[in-house]
Amino acid sequence: MSNPACPNCQSKYVYQDQQLFICPECDFEWNPQEVEQDAVIKVKDANGALLADGDKVTVVKDLKIKGSSQVIKIGTKAQIRRVLNKKDHELDCKVAGVGEMMVTAKFVKKA
Ligand SMILES: [Zn+2]
Repeated sequence: MSNPACPNCQSKYVYQDQQLFICPECDFEWNPQEVEQDAVIKVKDANGALLADGDKVTVVKDLKIKGSSQVIKIGTKAQIRRVLNKKDHELDCKVAGVGEMMVTAKFVKKA
């Protein structure tokens, strides 16, 4: 049996407890059925503007990259590949000079 990766932190150590999936690394719990039904996703940037797939954004604060000593500097440009329905790290972005990574919406603004 293979469980999905955690939608919050991408951990692979997710386990299932009845209807819920639980992530031991960030304590995120979710019901896979609810996530799929939740079709309308409203994610806002640092200024409260709604973000959508394909939007170009700029990072508004220095961001540490998890598991690395690399930092994404303020002002770095990124393009949103996909907006996900999560509490944070809800933007699947292509970040200039870094590549694909998950970014929290309130740390960017629309370019
Ligand atoms: Zn997690």
